[in-house]
Amino acid sequence: MTGGYRGRFAPSPTGPLHAGSLVAALASWLDARAHGGRWLVRVEDIDRPRCVPGADTVILSQLERCGLLPDEPPSWQSARSAAYEDALARLIAGGQSYPCACSRREIEDVLAARGIARARHGELVYPGTCRPERGGLHGRRSARAWRFHTGRAGDAVVAWTDRRLGDRRQDVAAEVGDFVLRRADGCWAYQLAVVVDDAWQGITDVVRGEDLADNTPRQILLQQALGLAPPRWLHTPLVLGADGQKLSKQNGAAAPDLRDPVAALQSAATVLGLPVAAAGNVGDALAFWTAAWRDRWVDPTAGTGRPTTGPAMA
Ligand code: GLU
Repeated sequence: MTGGYRGRFAPSPTGPLHAGSLVAALASWLDARAHGGRWLVRVEDIDRPRCVPGADTVILSQLERCGLLPDEPPSWQSARSAAYEDALARLIAGGQSYPCACSRREIEDVLAARGIARARHGELVYPGTCRPERGGLHGRRSARAWRFHTGRAGDAVVAWTDRRLGDRRQDVAAEVGDFVLRRADGCWAYQLAVVVDDAWQGITDVVRGEDLADNTPRQILLQQALGLAPPRWLHTPLVLGADGQKLSKQNGAAAPDLRDPVAALQSAATVLGLPVAAAGNVGDALAFWTAAWRDRWVDPTAGTGRPTTGPAMA
């Protein structure tokens, strides 16, 4: 499709861009350019304890240095509380969100009593203690968090198609449980904010790292509950360290050296399966490579004789 395409890069300002986030930035930019669409940057600064002051400015200047310029002024999620408040109110009114007074310790104890000790991705599948049909807060204490009631979602088994990963399926109720929309510390949860803002900004295509693919079914459930149109999804390959583990800001992944933006972008392009052969004596290497990759993104077979299948990456 052309024209109506709107994509975005949505970094959390917990530090400068790392190699993995540069891949997501480049992929989302290329996909927007290849579709003749618009590309937005949204700073996801809702997890206040994890945000690093000034990291947003650093990220925006890193993107600029790479020639990845948004088509509209960047937005900040910290300015969007009223919209998240409104979405939560609608979910509460529809019986799809309820307050929860459980501490992590209490959740662990309930699960342990059921013989469940294993946390999924470090997150516990909430046992439903505070569900309204089970007595709500049981008159215990004031609410701590607000959860999405997966049992009210109709069928919480979500089937979806990723442009790279293909057909996927997740039983959100069983595998994730009633997930948090607003945290006990008052911060908005990523799941709610991302869904509200993707709809607000008219995003047609979400292009982001594969580490976030597991969140997609939760976001689809929220889109359905709020009556929002789902975007298309494309989850890009992760950058792996020498130990085979994914790189992230959390494990101290080195920031790409943006004194040489072409080299940093070439590393990112390699992850996306794009060619990075020496360009020879090109005047503006940044413009040369971004144009070459955009053309290759449109037609992944350019110069290979292979049939066209979509984005170049495997
Ligand atoms: N803010 C999220 C992150 O940096 C990305 C959100 C998204 O692309 O959906 O991990």
